[in-house]
Amino acid sequence: MIPIELVIIGGGPAGYTAAIYAARAGLHPILYQGPNPGGQLTITGDVENYPGYRNGVTGPAMMQDFQAQAERFGAIIKSSTITKVDFSTYPRQLTLDNDLDILAKAVIIAAGASAKWLGLPAEKRLYGKGVSACAICDGFFFKDKTVVVVGGGDTAAEESLYLAKLCQKVHLLVRKDQMRASKIMQERVFKKPNIQVWFQTEVKDIIGQEQVEAIEVIHSPSKAITLIQASGLFVAIGHQPNTLPFLPYITVDSHGYIQTKPNTTETNIPGIFAAGDIQDPQYRQAVTAAGTGCMAALDAERFLQKTNANC
Ligand code: NDP
Repeated sequence: MIPIELVIIGGGPAGYTAAIYAARAGLHPILYQGPNPGGQLTITGDVENYPGYRNGVTGPAMMQDFQAQAERFGAIIKSSTITKVDFSTYPRQLTLDNDLDILAKAVIIAAGASAKWLGLPAEKRLYGKGVSACAICDGFFFKDKTVVVVGGGDTAAEESLYLAKLCQKVHLLVRKDQMRASKIMQERVFKKPNIQVWFQTEVKDIIGQEQVEAIEVIHSPSKAITLIQASGLFVAIGHQPNTLPFLPYITVDSHGYIQTKPNTTETNIPGIFAAGDIQDPQYRQAVTAAGTGCMAALDAERFLQKTNANC
């Protein structure tokens, strides 16, 4: 079997940017989009903070632009998913969802991360209609309105503080009797006059047909139910990097994100690079994902130059 020069796993901003750079460098990359082509952006409303789109753009339209740009330079885009890898041999072996095996000389893992959700039926139905997992992406649409944030960690604290600058009122629901967030973040939250923290409180239901209208919450010790009138629900209970197929080989940090060597996209395995949200617990923006996608393509190009010269 002839190995592919470069396989890119994931069709979000990081993967497509890597494909654009790698295709222009003549590496003939093949990109496998995976189960969620376009990544998290396809479940976002309007994107207004990606430079270059002066009037904003929808997430799916932006991802189509990225894909078309990569294809223009010869990148091959496939809709399959990589389900298994064997990074113990060289070239690297990858298994597709139709059980077909392929070989690759270099691999960029850009499979992204998925927001964790509460699992309520109304959450799915009202996604993009008031339900969100990203305050920076969607907070603007709730200017001067009342919103509810769920979670007790640093993400929930950060989202609440961000939203408190835009919204009239933020209700923060914490399921325990204390927050898990760092002390400094908690202090900031408690100091903010328009954030109300509800401890030992969970979401029971999201009310609204076409848009979020109210959140029904339950106070666990007393079982008291309250209806909070709100236009938005921000779920901030953590993200899950999509690392499962790579775990036997790739080193991840204590939160499950792929570890890369400082200032590079190199993983612990030679010729395997990581870009985008799968290696970024901190920024998680389309533009930062695209930036690391570019880095990964450049790192892979250098690796292939060296490896092919030694063959
Ligand atoms: P965490 O895992 O730290 O926190 C998740 C929070 O969500 C916890 O309070 C948890 O509650 C709560 N939660 C989980 N499931 C549910 C549920 N079903 N219903 C209600 N609440 C739920 O995730 P984060 O995304 O906040 O943070 C991840 C890591 O990233 C952390 O290490 C954090 O410090 C770091 N981070 C750092 C930032 C910074 O430094 N600026 C910003 C953002 C994140 P419980 O406590 O009861 O388990």
